[in-house]
Amino acid sequence: MLQCNCHIVGDPQTREAIVIDPGDDAGRILEVIKRHHLKVTAIVVTHTHIDHVVGLHRVQEATGAPVYLHADDLGLYRMLDVQASWLGWKTPEQAHIDQLVREGDVIRWGSCEAQILHTPGHTPGSICLYMPSDMPDAPLNATAAKSFQRGTARLFAGDTLFAGSIGRTDLWGGSFAGIMSSLKGKLLELPDDTIVYPGHGETTTIGKERATNPFLARN
Ligand SMILES: [Zn+2]
Ligand SMILES: [Zn+2]
Repeated sequence: MLQCNCHIVGDPQTREAIVIDPGDDAGRILEVIKRHHLKVTAIVVTHTHIDHVVGLHRVQEATGAPVYLHADDLGLYRMLDVQASWLGWKTPEQAHIDQLVREGDVIRWGSCEAQILHTPGHTPGSICLYMPSDMPDAPLNATAAKSFQRGTARLFAGDTLFAGSIGRTDLWGGSFAGIMSSLKGKLLELPDDTIVYPGHGETTTIGKERATNPFLARN
């Protein structure tokens, strides 16, 4: 319902993959994993708003992969029942949190790696995943081929940065000063051609947001 983007990033050679934000539709996520013969080695949650974690328990159960998130979002995860009641949803089953990540941690799978950037503001434990460059050769499918160019850095931004906007900060634990400092101090430090995959909406680049995003343009 809230149209959260789930990303599955696989190494075409080793077939190892990570799943970022299994927000819902666990069946569809598992189908994609199966169709591409992927072995999921980690499930990473950019933050624990309910629309990013509804599918978490089922994807974890089916893949046996460890779940990674930032400790500062554990409080919000424990409030899943409250979040569910705001939306009139059924409380999703809780997943087991295997690994707490922090700024500078690196997650590796196949020949890929992603650095954890702690970007508080939208929530206290919001993180982004930064893949500096050089994904393996073959994109997994035609959709991926359109945006996955070799040698380009990528950022999985959760709800910190969107095409033309930024994450809201009026929910539990949000901080406008915090998100602005995360954006200016961390995300705008990345190269302009970094492809940004936000938690909702269209793909963009750091350069485009630097130039046109009304929240950042004055920077
Ligand atoms: Zn959110
Ligand atoms: Zn969201």
